[in-house]
Amino acid sequence: MSTRRILILGSTGSIGTQTLDVVRHLNALRDRGVSAKRFEIVGLAAGRNTELLQEQAAEFGVENAFAACDDAGCAERLVREVECDMVVAAISGSAGLQSTLAAAELGRDIAIANKESLVAAGKLVTGACFASGSRLYPVDSEHAGVWQALMGVVGPDAAYPVRTLPASVERVVLTASGGPFRGKRPDEVAEATVEQALAHPNWSMGAKNTIDSATLMNKGLELIEARWLFGVGNDRLDAIVQPTSVVHAMIEMADGSTIAQMSAPDMRTPIQLALMRGSIVERPARLDLVELGELRFERADPGLYPALGLAKRAIDEGGTAGATLNAANELAVEAFLGKRIRFREIVRLTADAMDAAPARPVNELGDVLDAARLAREHVERGISALS
Ligand code: NDP
Repeated sequence: MSTRRILILGSTGSIGTQTLDVVRHLNALRDRGVSAKRFEIVGLAAGRNTELLQEQAAEFGVENAFAACDDAGCAERLVREVECDMVVAAISGSAGLQSTLAAAELGRDIAIANKESLVAAGKLVTGACFASGSRLYPVDSEHAGVWQALMGVVGPDAAYPVRTLPASVERVVLTASGGPFRGKRPDEVAEATVEQALAHPNWSMGAKNTIDSATLMNKGLELIEARWLFGVGNDRLDAIVQPTSVVHAMIEMADGSTIAQMSAPDMRTPIQLALMRGSIVERPARLDLVELGELRFERADPGLYPALGLAKRAIDEGGTAGATLNAANELAVEAFLGKRIRFREIVRLTADAMDAAPARPVNELGDVLDAARLAREHVERGISALS
């Protein structure tokens, strides 16, 4: 394989730093028989952590193409200016939308961690991919799991997004760990503190994603992401709880068989698969099933996790519903992290914003940004009314 030029957006975050770990690892394999360096980092974008950004730029020899950004336009500019073979979209939240969309328009391959861009603007991002030939390589472990499970059905080189899956694949099932509040009653978690909600049992992630995992909004966002990557609606999509996060996803086949993807809960595995565009190379994160002993599966309790119902509603409504859900949730999570609202208000405020703004068609970015702005205004009013 010739050296692949990588631009990382969100390089200082959880996914960004693990991507650089994977690049170090894969480039070091060169010493063991691979002739050329696999990856060259040609650009880095981050937010406030300028010290780490500069260290990364120095280590990977990125001379000019790195930026500490305080708006969404900055990463987008980098995408438009820097020639590369793959963009790693790992900015958190809706700040990642414009840069992901630009990469799709330019026909770049995208290792996509920023699920929010698909949730808010899946129609635009996938539409740009279909027009430009840009391919999305899922970094989210569940979607990478679906991708791997599908390799046995559609072949290793199938590209995503797709407009729909073959009829032999009846359902795509994502798993959720259930987060820190699994097994509790809804009234027990209503007043959960920020510290309790941030204590995820299996994964170490950025704060926004960790709170989303406690409400299970993360799984809801992932259902919407799956809808766009794999072209399936609610009738062919589900999320169930698998507490140890070892099974990441399953596909249920028409003949009654289920193909599951299992790996240790280590994000470097799906990141590597995305960077390698599906080629398998060794990775130290091994799964010992005998040590694990047993696998359990549970239905996701709709009373404890109302966010899942909201996400399914957004899939059914389509249009701007995803943008509304995403923006409302993002602001509510920020308010919870800032200790302005209680845990239970996150999903309630998001549901209120969806009730207040019936879905409208999405034809251009402005439709998404308008819906997001209205949702934020609605949630902001809701937060003010609480105090
Ligand atoms: P983090 O909060 O750890 O990192 C976010 C990154 O985005 C940081 O590098 C941050 O910079 C940067 N950033 C924020 N705003 C901007 C901006 N305007 N322009 C450029 N960079 C910006 O998040 P995660 O790594 O956890 O998550 C990133 C994405 O990956 C999210 O969409 C998440 O849902 C998804 N994801 C994460 C998983 C995980 O295990 N962490 C698993 C699956 C998906 P700085 O820190 O310098 O301010």
